Amino acid sequence: MTVDELKSLADAAAAVTQACACAIDTYREWTRVPIDFPEESMRTVGTFVRVMQCTVCGRCALRYVEAGGYYVEPRIRTLDPRLIVDVPAPD
Ligand SMILES: [Zn+2]
Repeated sequence: MTVDELKSLADAAAAVTQACACAIDTYREWTRVPIDFPEESMRTVGTFVRVMQCTVCGRCALRYVEAGGYYVEPRIRTLDPRLIVDVPAPD
């Protein structure tokens, strides 16, 4: 997935106004995935970190697994187009 594709997806997802059980739009920071999160409604649409999209409303979220010394915690946050920056790679 390119940065332009990610930005396009984020813009479309951020424009969704439909209420949905996923509540992706409420995860403004990295958040533990709730036990009742509707995983069955998600599809993977990118993988630089996992980018998932709700098949019900179209909102998108970033996902990763935090691996601490004593725990493993799945985390989620909304894909916010305002936070996507294409930074040149260092020399
Ligand atoms: Zn949804």
